[in-house]
Amino acid sequence: MIKNLKLIKVIDPDPTSLILEKIKVAEELFDAWNDYFYKDEEFMNMLKNYEKAVIKSNETMEKFGTFKECYVCSVLEKKGCCKAGLENEVTVNILLINMFLGKEIPKEREVPLRCFFVGPTGCKIFARPFLCRDYFCKRLLNMLGDEKYAIITQVLQEELSLLYKLTNYIKKELEFLLGEFLIELDLTGVA
Ligand code: SF4
Ligand code: SF4
Repeated sequence: MIKNLKLIKVIDPDPTSLILEKIKVAEELFDAWNDYFYKDEEFMNMLKNYEKAVIKSNETMEKFGTFKECYVCSVLEKKGCCKAGLENEVTVNILLINMFLGKEIPKEREVPLRCFFVGPTGCKIFARPFLCRDYFCKRLLNMLGDEKYAIITQVLQEELSLLYKLTNYIKKELEFLLGEFLIELDLTGVA
């Protein structure tokens, strides 16, 4: 069954088709191999550390008011930077991490013309791509000032380096299990 796993090859004009395809691939991989990964102590430690790091980053951003500012910008002022198409920054690997953490994956675009993962109050996924976590617009930078920005950057560095390690680890293991070179796991934009 796994040898026949359909990886992402179809290019459809529908802008949502790529992320739906990635979700399907991630679900197939998760169903087939979640037991294998859950028994891997090294992986589980990395996963737990990553989860803790995301929670810590979120707490820091909450404390410094960036989430609130993004809520005002995005929901109340109808501006915001989570535009349609950015969902493709979410790779199969990042979807898998969300699944390993038991987080629900949205099945449809809730807000038209916005990223597939935007909900009424902001981003609905727990493990988010590098670009989304690392982006601070002028408005946020002005609000934060140098000192708070330096603290957030430091906290985020831990999260993002764990994300890098985790995605590489998953990729390496799946390549070992499937005997294939899986570039699709890291696919972002439309190829
Ligand atoms: S990062 Fe900046 S542009 Fe994007 S939602 Fe937040 S405040 Fe708005
Ligand atoms: S933060 Fe979430 S909603 Fe915004 S672009 Fe990234 S994945 Fe999409």
